[in-house]
Amino acid sequence: MDQKTYHGKITPQDIARALFAHFNRGNLKVQQLGDGNSVIVQIATTKHPASGGQTAIGVSLQSVADGVMVQVGKQAWGGVAASLGFSALTAFRNPLSLLSRIDDIAQDLENLQLKDEIWDLIEITAKNLGAGFDLSERLRKYVCEYCDTPNPPGEAHCIACGAPLGGIQPITCQACGYIVLRSESSCPNCKKPLRF
Ligand SMILES: [Zn+2]
Ligand SMILES: [Zn+2]
Repeated sequence: MDQKTYHGKITPQDIARALFAHFNRGNLKVQQLGDGNSVIVQIATTKHPASGGQTAIGVSLQSVADGVMVQVGKQAWGGVAASLGFSALTAFRNPLSLLSRIDDIAQDLENLQLKDEIWDLIEITAKNLGAGFDLSERLRKYVCEYCDTPNPPGEAHCIACGAPLGGIQPITCQACGYIVLRSESSCPNCKKPLRF
């Protein structure tokens, strides 16, 4: 599964808008399911109209503590579709035919090579908004476990009581933005080795 987390001042709607502007042209059609904290953007093609209609790639956009978690592909449907609830899906014209095409979606990921283009666009959008794989300032502020004083990032000792803080500061994988533990040697999400 392809999943990345962008930390910073970025919302699902920022990414949905960019996907819409970029891909809703030519033989591609972009549709959005849901809004707010859980959004699915469907990028569909009419490439095989004779074989029964559209196939599509799903991009799921989910708000997290300090940014947006993005999933692209076949896996994108399950989680967010569930969290959107039945009413959001029934609002869509033909939800059952959409969900039954998951195998076609997986096939098209290889054929259309849209996936890389989608990730590139999301990457640029995040960068333009100042978001990335590093934790935002807000989340990086951490609270001393001895005296409950919030401390700025990078502080080795609590500014109030002097207790050591290094071990409790959260960190992220530099390849995908997943929040990881200092004790981990590889990222649980993308499996790449971690360098701190
Ligand atoms: Zn303290
Ligand atoms: Zn990773």
